[in-house]
Amino acid sequence: MSSDTLGSSATYKRMEQGYREKALKLFPWICGRCTREFVYSNLRELTVHHMDHDHSNNPNDGSNWELLCLYCHDNEHSKYTEQDQYATEVEAGDNNQESATYNPFADLKSMFKK
Ligand SMILES: [Zn+2]
Ligand SMILES: [Zn+2]
Repeated sequence: MSSDTLGSSATYKRMEQGYREKALKLFPWICGRCTREFVYSNLRELTVHHMDHDHSNNPNDGSNWELLCLYCHDNEHSKYTEQDQYATEVEAGDNNQESATYNPFADLKSMFKK
């Protein structure tokens, strides 16, 4: 019984669920950019980034994955689209501003929905 339609959002969601779970088992729950730590209750804000930007490239050893918070994940992508030339990594530690009042994730969440 294989009633799955390839390419449907349900299938994609399951696929994403699969590599996300694997990545969360492989890596500590820390954003690779701002080193923000995550716990179970806010784990939804920790996302799996594909280093080669190919979401179908999911090696089991996690070599194509990086855990990033929503904010850094968004940064990571806008960095590539806006300044392709800047391949050099931005020093982590620069973006260590934790603001208690402003929540950057509120807007990002809707942006991530396609
Ligand atoms: Zn981050
Ligand atoms: Zn990404």
